[in-house]
Amino acid sequence: TKTINLKNRPTGIPELTDFEFTSSVIADLQEGEVLLSSKYISVDPYLRGRMSDTKSYIKPFELNKPILSGAVAEVLASKNTKYSVGDHVAGMLEWKETQIIKTDQLLIVDPDKAALSAYLGVLGMTGLTAYLGLTEIGKPKKGETLLVSGAAGAVGSVVGQIGKILGLKVVGIAGTDEKVDMLKSQFGFDEAINYNTTKNMNEAIAKSCPEGVDIYFDNVGGEISEAVLFNINKFSRTVNCGAISVYNSTELTRSISVQPFLIKTSSSMQGFVISNYADKHPEAIMQLTEWLQQGKLHYIETIIEGFDKIPTAFIDLFRGKNKGKMIVKI
Ligand code: NDP
Repeated sequence: TKTINLKNRPTGIPELTDFEFTSSVIADLQEGEVLLSSKYISVDPYLRGRMSDTKSYIKPFELNKPILSGAVAEVLASKNTKYSVGDHVAGMLEWKETQIIKTDQLLIVDPDKAALSAYLGVLGMTGLTAYLGLTEIGKPKKGETLLVSGAAGAVGSVVGQIGKILGLKVVGIAGTDEKVDMLKSQFGFDEAINYNTTKNMNEAIAKSCPEGVDIYFDNVGGEISEAVLFNINKFSRTVNCGAISVYNSTELTRSISVQPFLIKTSSSMQGFVISNYADKHPEAIMQLTEWLQQGKLHYIETIIEGFDKIPTAFIDLFRGKNKGKMIVKI
């Protein structure tokens, strides 16, 4: 069976040579173990952080060891009473075609309730991030203006739709005209801005948010987020969800001071890591499932086929190749 290891710690944007394919023979199953066949593997921007050897909320991947990410797999054999042959499970798994693990932590998922891939996106980590980031930190109030960066991605496209469900005016920022059109026509955003073709983001945001920005859901950081500062309202809240524009930076970038903006508007900025909100996950999943079933929430996926394509799919996140959740089908 094939495995993908981290070969080198990337400098800047990861390259295919930073990954190594190996193959091994599957061992015999021991008591408590399950044999899993990977069906869908999630590639996520945060994995870039784990590829560097820096202190973070989660420890770095080891060199020459398999990379680990969210995945959905089928149980091929089981010596664990919790899982039966044919079950589909979701959890953190290694980048392997098949693997044996001893765990009780995998969630059994029902392919009749939702597409299996959805458990990696809207009903998984990115859906939770969108819902809990917006509600717990954004603290939305009906009629307010919500601005979302990385708006056409997995988290952003869900944040914007939840904003609409909660009665907000929603404006998105994304990297292509196609994404901008999609946000408005498919996801109900009121306005959207293409940051790649806009010369003055500060002015463009002011134009799209004539009443200012009450909540900024930030997936990208960097210059885009600096431009937002000029448009925040009194008592605004910035949800620091991600900073993909700087994940590949090789040196510390100088940015404008945020403090004067926050002080004069009595605004706040708060970072969060979704795993720290585990007590709220079940309730959030219930709400997301209900909205999906009611047809109030839609999701989009970019599905790449083939185990060998995992590194490419991951790298393409930093080139904006995905719309919605980037997933590899095995
Ligand atoms: P996305 O689906 O949004 O994929 C990444 C997107 O980011 C790309 O499609 C691209 O879209 C955009 N992008 C890439 N490079 C840049 C750049 N230099 N400047 C601006 N935009 C860029 O990923 P996710 O939805 O999974 O994640 C979104 C963010 O949320 C990430 O920063 C991630 O780390 C963070 N996150 C945080 C969590 C938490 O617990 N705090 C949990 C999950 C995710 P475009 O074409 O628009 O440029």
